[in-house]
Amino acid sequence: MNILVTGGAGYIGSHTCVSLLETGHTVVVADNLCNSRADTLDRVKQITGKDVIFSRIDVTDEAAVNSLFADYSFDGVIHFAGHKAVGESVAKPLKYYRNNIISTIVLAEACQRYGVKRFVFSSSATVYGDNEVPFVESMPLLPATNPYGETKAVCERILIDAAKANPDWSVALLRYFNPVGAHESGLIGDAPDGIPNNLMPYITQVAKGKLDKLRIFGDDYPTVDGTGVRDYIHVMDLAEGHVAALDKLTSGVHVYNLGTGQGTSVLQLVKAFEDANGMKLSCAIVARRPGDIAECYANASKAKRELGWVAKRDLLEMCRDAWRFEKNFMGSCLHS
Ligand code: NAD
Ligand code: UDP
Repeated sequence: MNILVTGGAGYIGSHTCVSLLETGHTVVVADNLCNSRADTLDRVKQITGKDVIFSRIDVTDEAAVNSLFADYSFDGVIHFAGHKAVGESVAKPLKYYRNNIISTIVLAEACQRYGVKRFVFSSSATVYGDNEVPFVESMPLLPATNPYGETKAVCERILIDAAKANPDWSVALLRYFNPVGAHESGLIGDAPDGIPNNLMPYITQVAKGKLDKLRIFGDDYPTVDGTGVRDYIHVMDLAEGHVAALDKLTSGVHVYNLGTGQGTSVLQLVKAFEDANGMKLSCAIVARRPGDIAECYANASKAKRELGWVAKRDLLEMCRDAWRFEKNFMGSCLHS
């Protein structure tokens, strides 16, 4: 299939380009590089030996999106492009609503206009809010605790309604848990700008000596050891989940959790990282981070049942691959 990948120069998008190319799909990336660099796509080419067409456009720009759809005959769209920093979304909600929601509407309208019937959307486990774990797709969603989460819930609703009006559409709403790690080549990975918000890139920067110690946000949660529990998933498993969704989708809207189904605490992740990479990390317990929930992990059985997809890579591989990328590349390939 010929697939439009919006946000394809970013963290999850670039890994998904690798999976798509390796399974015989062709890829056109649309990215404005607001949180990525074009040379990531050169490394995607290096890994796969295959070409990627790149269009530097903003996918909220209707004219630019329409012209891309007119130039290429797409069989499907995977829509990754969006802003994703929870804290920034609280400070700049309109920036988040504008980018994340308008891009989704513009792309859905272009699909309607040009007869593109497959749409895969990057949603997030954040739409479950503080529900009871494990999170299952049929749960009623609780209000998001921040504008970023709200944009994901709104986009899901927009696509559900658009698919009702276009009964021949196949839409996948993929709710990601916590993507970590990097392609095993160490050529592409998570390259956050500035001080990372997320745990794994924070850990790799402590390991490298760029940050002095990991601050663990709270050890008094009702969890296995008091620290927050999340469902960490290797980014290549996540990438393969997108290919499975594209290949297996039938008409209608389908919601899938993409997680491992395994909860891991902060302390357990630190220990896994130390064991995988033979080092000790400096850590300190500090206060809880406002807005954090105690536990978040998936019931991942629907994706297994309907898409034949399961996450295969374990915590040690996630830690080893995240560290390899940090060691090899992060010094020289930070965002411009
Ligand atoms: P990322 O920032 O690395 O990638 C997003 C890409 O989209 C970047 O390359 C950026 O330049 C591009 N982009 C943003 N707005 C754009 C626009 N208007 N036009 C064109 N390009 C634009 O983020 P990621 O971690 O790869 O996340 C991809 C998607 O997955 C996002 O929608 C994010 O909300 C969602 N998601 C991410 C996580 C996570 O933990 N990383 C978890 C759940 C969901
Ligand atoms: N966390 C932490 N220190 C950090 C970053 C994160 O202790 O510097 C904890 C956080 O409280 C949560 C877990 O690690 O329990 C995962 O946080 P992350 O921001 O990576 O993902 P999210 O909370 O968005 O699921």
